[in-house]
Parts: sequence; C-alpha cells; structure tokens
Amino acid sequence: MSLIEIKNIKKTYGCGENEVKALRGINLNVDKGDFLAIMGPSGSGKSTLLNILGFLDKPTEGEYIFNGEKTDSLKDAKLAKYRNSHVGFVVQNFALIDDYTIFQNVKVPLDYAHVSSKEKKKRIEYLLKIMGIEDKKNKLPKELSGGQNQRAAIARALVNSPDIILADEPTGALDRKNSDEIMKVFKKLNDEGKTIIIITHDERVGSMCKKIVYIEDGMVKEIEK
Ligand code: ADP
Ligand code: ADP
Repeated sequence: MSLIEIKNIKKTYGCGENEVKALRGINLNVDKGDFLAIMGPSGSGKSTLLNILGFLDKPTEGEYIFNGEKTDSLKDAKLAKYRNSHVGFVVQNFALIDDYTIFQNVKVPLDYAHVSSKEKKKRIEYLLKIMGIEDKKNKLPKELSGGQNQRAAIARALVNSPDIILADEPTGALDRKNSDEIMKVFKKLNDEGKTIIIITHDERVGSMCKKIVYIEDGMVKEIEK
C-alpha cells in the first residue's frame, strides 16, 4: 500500500472570470521512503499540490488517500489533526520566529503536544545535535547562517516525528555550499526511512532526489527515476 495515493485531484481557485484551474487532474502515488522532487515552471501548480499533500488546503475534486484513509471528506478539525501529527513543513525562508532562540523555535510544534517538558527537551536537543547546531540552541536566528537556520527549520519540522517532510524550495535562499549541505541532511533522513517531497527549481537539487515529478499546467507531465 502506498503512503499517499492521489487520484485525479483538481483544484480551482476563484470563480467566474477570476477562475484559475491550478490543478487539472493529478495522479500520484508516494511510497514510504520515497524522496521526490517536484519540478516545473512557475505557476504550474507545485505549491498548490504540496499544500494539498500537507493538508493545508483541500482539493476541489478527486481523492486523497493517506495511509489507507480517504481524507478528502474529512472535516477541517480532523485535517488540522492530520497536519500536526503526520506532516513536517520546511519553507524557503525558514519562517523562524525572530525573537525566539533556536531551541524555542524548534519547540513550537510541541507547545500543545501531550509530551512532558523533559521529553521535549530531550527530543529538541537530540535533533539539534543531528543537525549539527547543538551549540546554537540559545542563539537567535539572526546570529546563524542561512544554512544553519534551515537546519533549525528542519529540526522543527521533525520534532513531532512526522511521517512525511514537505519542503517548498528548501534551498531557494541558500548558496551552493549550504544548499548541498541541506540536501545531505535530507538524504540522511531519507536513508533512515523518512519520506520526503521537495519543490525545487534547481535541476542539481532535483537530481539528488530519487524521483523527479515534472508538473506542467496543473498536470503531471513526466516522472523521471
Ligand atoms: P507554482 O508553485 O508552480 O508556482 P502555484 O501552485 O503557486 O504554482 O499556483 C498555480 C496557479 O494557481 C497560479 O496561476 C497561481 O496564480 C494560482 N493560485 C495559487 N494560489 C492561489 C490563491 N490562493 N488564489 C488564487 N489563485 C491562486
Ligand atoms: P512546555 O512548557 O511546553 O512544556 P518548557 O518551556 O517547559 O516547555 O520547555 C521544555 C523543556 O525545555 C524544559 O525542561 C525546559 O527547561 C527546557 N528549555 C526551555 N528553553 C530552553 C533552552 N533555551 N535551552 C535549554 N533547555 C530549555
């Protein structure tokens, strides 16, 4: 059984003359342990697809089956629960809170989790160590490099032990060296069994993934292995 089955997903924004067909019938299976790049021109529907995969948005039509459960008819509250327990998001500009320390930023997803303070601290320190930034835990984001901040953002995405990591242009704000380092982090996580999907414009980054899904005009054009 695939972790994710997407069947003929469509997404339309607006209506009448403002209508935009962002997705026009996407079919996609994602297996546990996949490492997928989503590539394609600007405006082709990549972010819309990622948002639907991460339960941030709902498709207008089609089926989304996650871990064997049909999700498209779930109520918003149940979707939020899905999002919080199954998905870790990473975005291009890290989206860290400026006046929180790195430790506090990584802790945010755990703020309402039913986990003891001791366990939270243990998990956060473990992840900061894995990401090689344990010595930065009491620093603010502005005191870290772009690559270090992106590592902190990945630690934050992992702190709830999600089934899947979704990343929208995770290397978009980084130079080549930092970008390669972040891809090494993803590769290591994938080797340990994490399922990862990243949107990228960078062919080099795409080629470091196991598969590339090319999206064009709201449809899957090609899947390259
Ligand atoms: P990509 O990530 O490939 O650049 P997007 O998924 O962001 O593409 O956008 C696909 C299309 O949907 C574009 O035409 C975009 O303008 C439109 N779109 C995206 N989000 C919205 C929104 N919230 N409201 C209206 N149109 C949107
Ligand atoms: P919560 O109130 O959500 O349970 P806490 O604020 O108690 O979370 O923090 C969880 C744990 O992390 C506590 O053991 C706390 O002492 C520790 N902690 C909080 N901030 C830091 C920090 N900057 N560096 C190291 N440990 C911290």
